[in-house]
Amino acid sequence: MQTITVLGATGSIGCNTLDVINRHRDRYRVFAITGHRQLALLTEQAKACDPRYVVIADEQDYNQAKALLSEAGVKAELLCGQQALEDVSSAPEVDAVMAAIVGAAGLMPTMAAVKAGKRILLANKEALVMSGALFIDAARQSGATILPIDSEHNAIFQCLPTDFAYGDLAGSGIASLLLTGSGGPFRERDLASFNQITVEQACHHPNWDMGRKITVDSATMMNKGLEFIEACRLFGTAPDDITVVLHPQSTIHSMVQYVDGSVLAQMGHPDMRTPIAYGLAYPDRIDAGVKPLDFATLSDLTFSTPCAERYPNLYLAIEACREGQAATTRLNAANEIAVEAFLSHQIGFCDIARVNEQTLNKLEPTSVSSLQQILEQDRRARVTARNVIRGLG
Ligand code: NAD
Ligand code: MG
Repeated sequence: MQTITVLGATGSIGCNTLDVINRHRDRYRVFAITGHRQLALLTEQAKACDPRYVVIADEQDYNQAKALLSEAGVKAELLCGQQALEDVSSAPEVDAVMAAIVGAAGLMPTMAAVKAGKRILLANKEALVMSGALFIDAARQSGATILPIDSEHNAIFQCLPTDFAYGDLAGSGIASLLLTGSGGPFRERDLASFNQITVEQACHHPNWDMGRKITVDSATMMNKGLEFIEACRLFGTAPDDITVVLHPQSTIHSMVQYVDGSVLAQMGHPDMRTPIAYGLAYPDRIDAGVKPLDFATLSDLTFSTPCAERYPNLYLAIEACREGQAATTRLNAANEIAVEAFLSHQIGFCDIARVNEQTLNKLEPTSVSSLQQILEQDRRARVTARNVIRGLG
């Protein structure tokens, strides 16, 4: 029996995680679920999975959440605030933590789980992008196991040899990692009409059903950029060892190319329950509720190279990855502000990349070596990005 905390339970990854857990009540018990704002859904989830704790991020919601939980007859204790998120991530009873809060807000609770040596099911890529080597070093020191939930990294993890040594591609006969991406909803759209892209259009992904922030990131391909950085940190690879491949069908979730010419790919339906089930059960395999791939009806699989004109954010991220930790922390922060501004109709779709690029250009190069310095770079980049947005108006 494994005891699990689900950070960000009310999100797309959180709901899928509870779905898989619910199929295997004999293997998993829920210790805590956490959410922000969606109190009715959180209450419903608490009723269904009977956790010891329900945690909300914001104290302002306490009374309303308390009333909803007691109305529903939920026995779980209600906690709130940052410290509570960290406490349920690091409690001694917890074996594994699903890190599925979106954005930088997930960093501290995820770090608490890392420092406590838990099995980390890492969906929250922004936490790793912003903290990089600190995150990996903390896991090494505490003995925490990091299992990638992001489908691409989960695919690569599945295609690596089991004795893969961190950063040593050559030692395992690996030539490169091939990171696939669908190219999002605007892969074929006329570039001249990019200025007219609406929030609604950007929030509709052709293959995956996800939260709004990552869906916009997929449309700009910043998501693939963040994943490029995530892959470098997770596997210890250099930027030159990773190639991004456009694959619109999202059937192959990423690949590992070996020096002898072999390419190993992981395939499946675009359904996050597959990597979630893999992370929960590793090294076992459990039913994820995902139907098998049917090769009799599978349509053509196609591949191409993403172009810089269409996806400037992808190339900004690759550049930031080459530059170093301060740049990736800043880019992540700027992008969170830019996407928020786009979603609230303050800026246009093409402005997202402008805000990101101008924010990076306005800040002097620096190095970061502590969590405090990382949080400071994150804060500065947010202030700068907001100023850039005001300038655009
Ligand atoms: P989502 O928006 O659907 O859910 C986000 C969750 O975080 C919700 O539970 C929300 O309540 C919580 N949250 C938001 N702001 C918070 C705050 N300030 N404090 C505490 N909690 C807060 O997002 P999602 O699509 O589930 O994505 C979650 C993470 O997983 C992201 O980092 C995303 O990049 C990553 N991811 C998602 C998918 C996917 O298919 N959805 C795939 C790969 C990676
Ligand atoms: Mg992904």
